[in-house]
Amino acid sequence: MLAPAGSEFLTRTRASATQYRVPHEDVSAAELAERFPMFAIGADTEGYYEPGAGYVRPEAAVRAQLELARRHGARLRLGETAERWAAGPAGVRVETDAGAYVADRLVLCAGPWIGDLFPEGRDRFAVHRQLMYWFPIREGYERVREMPVFVWDLGGKADGFVHLDGFYGFPAVDGPGGGMKVATESYERTTTPDGRRDPATPEEAEAMYWRCVGPHLPWLGPNPIRSVSCLYTNTRGSRFVIDRHPDHESVLLVSACSGHGFKHSAAIGEAVAQLVTAGESDLDLSPFALEATRP
Ligand SMILES: Cc1cc2nc3c(=O)[nH]c(=O)nc-3n(C[C@H](O)[C@H](O)[C@H](O)COP(=O)(O)OP(=O)(O)OC[C@H]3O[C@@H](n4cnc5c(N)ncnc54)[C@H](O)[C@@H]3O)c2cc1C
Repeated sequence: MLAPAGSEFLTRTRASATQYRVPHEDVSAAELAERFPMFAIGADTEGYYEPGAGYVRPEAAVRAQLELARRHGARLRLGETAERWAAGPAGVRVETDAGAYVADRLVLCAGPWIGDLFPEGRDRFAVHRQLMYWFPIREGYERVREMPVFVWDLGGKADGFVHLDGFYGFPAVDGPGGGMKVATESYERTTTPDGRRDPATPEEAEAMYWRCVGPHLPWLGPNPIRSVSCLYTNTRGSRFVIDRHPDHESVLLVSACSGHGFKHSAAIGEAVAQLVTAGESDLDLSPFALEATRP
């Protein structure tokens, strides 16, 4: 983690690491420049290094979780779209494009599409398109291949839906020709989740280069090898929502995103499973009340 001195993001990270006894080091600008030469470090930059951190392959993680659910008896209906639902004394009825189901409980965890199945709460969530880029490696491939994953806080204010004013990246895991993945967070305008995955426009790629890559990662070239888009489902204050539907006790709303929910998916899955089967979870879920996301 890199940030200007006094960064709130860095201060909170250090505080959490200390509170939860996560092994870490505070690294000065001079030491950052020596140990991680792929970064252009300014005299005002401070660092936090966590040797035990790393990255997850989300596709493999989702596959593993689905397989485990299947082994525990879950019936998976993949590629089937839930179109409407209704809750009543006899349970919850869900109609899809392939059939209908009745159950005691319904968990709505539809990601950016949550507003389609919970229209009365649509204003609690804002969907923002995010872009990921793979920039060409002009020099230092061996060092970039071994570098840490990183988050660089550029120091702008994080409030409302804004989670971080900065960018992040990964070591070069796709070989010398595969480039290095770098991405930022964008909250300029909301979008609707339609499944399209438009790559960056030349203007977007140029803006990303001049704001994040060029000034901070001098070993990378200006024209991305490729880019893809993805969707954040944001709430105010970047909070997760894990709560009962305001009108239906038997319906749970689970929207854990704001750009940082994936790593928590197993723990959230466990807590929600307890809530559905035992009526309560070992985890205190009160911080994730829907009420907290009110405009
Ligand atoms: C660019 C980017 C980078 C990110 N980086 C990180 C990171 O480094 N670490 C981290 O922890 N998190 C990260 N996240 C956030 C993470 O991806 C999300 O928090 C997480 O995927 C949210 O999980 P979810 O299950 O709520 O939603 P999703 O993963 O979006 O799943 C929702 C599912 O519901 C399905 N669905 C929707 N509507 C219907 C319907 N009507 N019928 C049937 N199915 C439906 C969708 O097809 C989808 O499969 C990132 C997100 C993006 C976009």
